[in-house]
Amino acid sequence: MKQENLKQMMKEKLPGKVFHLLENTGKIAEKEGYSAYLVGGMVRDLLLGVENLDIDITVEGEGIAFAEKLAKRLSGRVQGKTRFGTAVVTFPGRLKVDVATARSEYYEHPAALPEVRSSSLREDQFRRDFTINAMSIRLNPEDFGILIDFFGGRKDLEKRIIRALHKGSFLDDPTRIFRAVRFAERYRFKIEKRTETLIKKAVKLAMFDELTIERLRDELVLIFSEKKPLRAIEKMAELHELKFIHPRIRFNKGLKKLLAGVEETLIWFKDSFPNEKMIPWLIYFAALLDQLTPKEVKTTCRRFHLSRKNEEKIIKGRKGVAKRLKELSKKEELKPSRIYRQLEDLPLETLLLLMARTEKVARERIVFYLNELRQIKSKVSGKELLELGLKPGPQFARILKNLLYARLDGRVRTKRDEMKYVKKYLDNLTRTGQTVN
Ligand code: ATP
Repeated sequence: MKQENLKQMMKEKLPGKVFHLLENTGKIAEKEGYSAYLVGGMVRDLLLGVENLDIDITVEGEGIAFAEKLAKRLSGRVQGKTRFGTAVVTFPGRLKVDVATARSEYYEHPAALPEVRSSSLREDQFRRDFTINAMSIRLNPEDFGILIDFFGGRKDLEKRIIRALHKGSFLDDPTRIFRAVRFAERYRFKIEKRTETLIKKAVKLAMFDELTIERLRDELVLIFSEKKPLRAIEKMAELHELKFIHPRIRFNKGLKKLLAGVEETLIWFKDSFPNEKMIPWLIYFAALLDQLTPKEVKTTCRRFHLSRKNEEKIIKGRKGVAKRLKELSKKEELKPSRIYRQLEDLPLETLLLLMARTEKVARERIVFYLNELRQIKSKVSGKELLELGLKPGPQFARILKNLLYARLDGRVRTKRDEMKYVKKYLDNLTRTGQTVN
């Protein structure tokens, strides 16, 4: 194996504190009698010149004991120890290292949890998914920076291909079927021909049971969290992978248009509201379930163990869509409060999915809602309403809402206007014999 030393590249490309942490890790390993290696995505991304700060370290020797020594020497804390010999060490300054034990795994039956026995680095790398993810960098001081590449990952990076390590790879772990697509589309690599054949075969045979379905969901979440997932979803469709989400999903023109709409809408939203939290993957997931019946949507959400809250968001995104869009697409001018009423009950993800479905007028109205209307609040507080003699209850909520609509439409501007509006509203109620609370 040709030995390439990446020390200089690491020094130039990694943030100083990461580089020093790696150097120190190697020194501590040496002193304590371990061999330590930087592995996985960070090695790949270092060679590609892409930023990646997820530090994964594999040690030959007891991983957890090493994690504890590392934490002690560098003022860190060990968390999340597992029976597979993995642990996480967190350091001040938001640095974190994932430590694993070099080990081999064998599979009792496809897709089962791996049984663990201690073994060497080569075996650890052999159980990884693709050649580009199966390179490591030695950290012990004497050889610090040496690239260890058993399976030709370096060459595959240059050739820009995703290659599985052996022919049983996708049956051992079917989530790799999805990982292949994710990496291929992220870096615009090609899935190597033989690997693609293996995927196609595995797609016919693979199954996701109770044990593996959550891992599949996690992989889907990662795909849908990429910056531009549309291409990956298209590739998933081409490889017939969408059937694992639901067999009735058809990647037709309509679905493609909707997904493209989601991608465009999310780019706009993140650009306009960079600090606002929402769950992009949920919107893609909801879009993919669009062709299914409400019952099928519900079972799919349950099958993937989505939280009730997320399930509700997906279901809400389907209810009354046609009616809302019909109203929002009206040619005549709509009062702001009328636009507001169509959208006020929708969670952000649902709103964005609705926006992805629309064009022209309706889209502009949703943008108007997101940019302006939803930020508008009444000036009179609930407390002040209580002081006017109102009691909490349905009427109370109704007054507040009407007050907000009045403000949205410019019928009240100042706080005094609002107070006047409320008093008049209450007088009206009393005059017509209705109760005030
Ligand atoms: P990302 O940049 O998306 O985080 P990553 O390569 O770091 O990419 P992780 O999912 O964090 O991806 O996994 C870290 C490493 O663990 C991978 O590079 C790969 O070597 C290995 N790995 C992860 N999942 C699998 C899997 N299902 N099968 C085999 N190896 C895996």
